[in-house]
Amino acid sequence: MSRLLFWLALAFLVLYAIRTKLRELQGGQRPRDPRQPERPAARPAARGRANAEVETMLCCAHCGIYYPASETVQAGGRDYCCAAHASLPAA
Ligand SMILES: [Zn+2]
Repeated sequence: MSRLLFWLALAFLVLYAIRTKLRELQGGQRPRDPRQPERPAARPAARGRANAEVETMLCCAHCGIYYPASETVQAGGRDYCCAAHASLPAA
């Protein structure tokens, strides 16, 4: 009995594989179309969101703390985390 089930399962798998392959060869773009518009639309959006969230971090020349580059205070060609550290004499 288990052999019969095994052969039935094998036959089903082979037929399923052949059917899938034939669909791919004939009109294979039907099953892919629903996915493809989603992926290109989702990936660039995800990339753009990821890029927007990533910000360059700089190291303060005085205290060595890392902070977002948008908050930098430049003095004497060096980057500082705040105006207080920028006004202090360089170590
Ligand atoms: Zn600092």
